Amino acid sequence: MTKKGMRNKAKNARKLHRVSSRPISKKIIASKAKPKKIVVQKLAPSQKAAAKCVKKLIVEPIIANSLLSLAGENATSVLGQMEGAMSDEEIARACKFKVSEVRAVLNKLHAQGIAVYERTRDRDTGWYYYKWSANVGAIERMLDENVKSEKMATEQRLKYENACNMYSCDKCMQEKYPFETALDYLFKCPQCGSPLEYKQPGASEANLPKKPGR
Ligand SMILES: [Zn+2]
Repeated sequence: MTKKGMRNKAKNARKLHRVSSRPISKKIIASKAKPKKIVVQKLAPSQKAAAKCVKKLIVEPIIANSLLSLAGENATSVLGQMEGAMSDEEIARACKFKVSEVRAVLNKLHAQGIAVYERTRDRDTGWYYYKWSANVGAIERMLDENVKSEKMATEQRLKYENACNMYSCDKCMQEKYPFETALDYLFKCPQCGSPLEYKQPGASEANLPKKPGR
């Protein structure tokens, strides 16, 4: 190709770019005025009260641990910053996280029904906008289920302890040993050397988990 030919080609390309880019930017401005709304999931009616309730729930160790295993270490921070319906960018700003980190958490929480979104579609660009909020009902259900399963686990442990003769150190108060293990240790605490004492069955029943008061 000649130099002139190349110049003309570049000129035409620039012209084409201008022609194709102008109407799109106009469309974006026009569409911001009236986005078409498509509601996918309805949000709780009182969002402020819901956010307050979520903040209370997520500090419960039983909930915090579940959130950690379900959606990672950022899950409680993300939920704690959600007030009403917010975009992922707004949540990211509030938490001082990257938007990609917030999105990863939101997707995991959404899979569990803990985060829900309202989606709006821009009629002209076809783009979707998401506003996220926390689902208090799902978090409360998670609390109920976890308390129930932890209670069952404790009951099973107590049953086992009652079936065996259990020994523990009054100083360390950490571990309990069935008779055979205590015998192996010659009834001396492996941590501090204090004598291992026989524990009455049911002595630890007071430690059964209780549903936290709200
Ligand atoms: Zn000890």
